[in-house]
Amino acid sequence: MSPDDREGARREAASIARSLGRKLERERAAGTGDLIARGARAGAEAAGASKLDAPAAPEHRVAPERNAAAERLAATSPPATAIADVVEVDLFGRPIPPVAPHAPASAPEPDHAPAEAPLNPAGWEARAPLAAAAEPVLAQIAAEVKVCEKCGLWEARNQAVPGVGSAQSGIVFVGEAPGADEDRIGEPFVGRAGQLLDKIIQAMDDARLIPGVPLSRATVFIGNIIHCRPPENRVPLPFEIEQSSPYLRRQLEALKPRVICCLGKTSAEFMLGSKASLGSMRGKVYRQGGAKLIVTYHPAACLRNPEFKRPVWEDMQFLAREYLSD
Ligand code: URA
Repeated sequence: MSPDDREGARREAASIARSLGRKLERERAAGTGDLIARGARAGAEAAGASKLDAPAAPEHRVAPERNAAAERLAATSPPATAIADVVEVDLFGRPIPPVAPHAPASAPEPDHAPAEAPLNPAGWEARAPLAAAAEPVLAQIAAEVKVCEKCGLWEARNQAVPGVGSAQSGIVFVGEAPGADEDRIGEPFVGRAGQLLDKIIQAMDDARLIPGVPLSRATVFIGNIIHCRPPENRVPLPFEIEQSSPYLRRQLEALKPRVICCLGKTSAEFMLGSKASLGSMRGKVYRQGGAKLIVTYHPAACLRNPEFKRPVWEDMQFLAREYLSD
């Protein structure tokens, strides 16, 4: 090869590396950046291009066995229903059977078998010591969430959103991910959907659905599967869920909820490891460790479809009955 040919090949390799670098910038927020950066650097090195042509990426984030999954993500935007693919254990560390990607969706069977763990306590007095014990743990988790850089979402965030409330009532609402308002304020469910959730909690309290247990933002806990806003409010990617959901798992371990209420399909899919339709998961009670788990529509869905408000209210009455029964 002549010196000119060599120079031409070197320039071409450098150009490819630069183009991969630009792709990295686009993909970084999707949490796949590390993988692409490695590919870019490997390609650049093989072609004799300077390492500086390809963006540097931290080496510690993607476990080797996750690379195949990240590669698939980089190639395509995953469907919303792909989330349970990477969830190998439930929030209490129990294995979740894999769900075939195109398996016919059906609701998981509610767990009527005798539960291994006794139900977590119900009632104000019984839960007071538990709430006190949970407080410093929740504060510690919140501090970690605030500075988390485990997936690419931290780069575009204004604030991470750890969760709000306490273990006092024993009721936990689990949403999907912060939106623009939550990102700005640093608290979950503070936008329009959040205002509707506040109304729902207020209505539960007004109706004394759980006698002796005042219900408010302070006495329930409101959390999300992931803790930073995805761009354009897209559905969280599996990698983001994998990195961020352990905070939720630790919160739930500290909160020892009596009832967990999944808000919407993404939350239900993640918590139950199921791709069944939301409609088929509603109206059933599932057990997760010492907690009962129910599913209802996301408040944002109620804003789009006001006819969902009635079933949501029925679900809240169902939640209360489950809370009060063994
Ligand atoms: N939607 C969610 O799922 N979570 C929030 O915190 C806000 C809106």
